Amino acid sequence: MSKKFTFSERGGCPICGDGRSTEKVSLPYHEGAVSDFIGTYYQGRIEPESLRGGRYRILYCDACDFYYQGDILNDEGMYELYEHIIVPEGSLAKVQGARKEYFQGHLRTAGLIGELLPVTTPHSVKVLDFGMGWGHWACAAKALGYDTMGAEISPSRIAYAAENGIRSVDINALPDACIDFVHTDQVFEHVADPRQLVGELARILRLGGVLGIGVPSAENTAKRFKSKFVPGKDELHPLEHINGFTSDALKRLADGAGLKVVGWTEYSTWRRRLRMLSRTMRDLGRLDMYFRKK
Ligand SMILES: [Zn+2]
Repeated sequence: MSKKFTFSERGGCPICGDGRSTEKVSLPYHEGAVSDFIGTYYQGRIEPESLRGGRYRILYCDACDFYYQGDILNDEGMYELYEHIIVPEGSLAKVQGARKEYFQGHLRTAGLIGELLPVTTPHSVKVLDFGMGWGHWACAAKALGYDTMGAEISPSRIAYAAENGIRSVDINALPDACIDFVHTDQVFEHVADPRQLVGELARILRLGGVLGIGVPSAENTAKRFKSKFVPGKDELHPLEHINGFTSDALKRLADGAGLKVVGWTEYSTWRRRLRMLSRTMRDLGRLDMYFRKK
């Protein structure tokens, strides 16, 4: 049997710290709908019995318009989940088999750097992909001429990105205000303390620099509680998507770190294309927002 997992309770809303969140869902992990999902999704690599005692709890902070899982795996459990249960080879095969739209999307979003910053010579612009995964977005930014680096915890992903010429850095070792553009995609929904992370990223950004955040969208999550709630591979994915952001929640999180949302009016030639892109992203259940350090 797989090792027993231990959960820790989050003290209040991870964005504002308020403890008066509303509980929307509370289901046991070891039986019923959540157990069925875990069994199917992880193909037996997590035995529901190893999660006994934990509950899949969805809380909602009205002040932040933010959904979050109230109980999350402890550090050891998170490491086990991301390093051993989600098999790296499977994840690489998935992106290597991705359709051309996936890679073209990287070029499009990397192209935004030049729209959101006054770039004349890309080589003088420092770009960081935080949580770069296999480094495909970083490769797109590098191809556009930017001085690109990535941050990542998984050794196999770091090695793969290095083979493609992407160097990795530890953000704690970076000085204040040294990066022009930080890209984070599918990162913030996974972290136990999003406030701490956004603060770290704001610290390394130059004044006027931009942070792009891409997460699964929780804009339509409210609807899910109107009928019987079914756990699934979505914005509230059990164990993994512990933060469910609406656009207001992301704005509030960024605001706390001195980052202000970049409005559509700040875009020039890309405005129309961006609106279309944004609509497509929303259809795909994504939320993508850009914030500037003021
Ligand atoms: Zn809150």
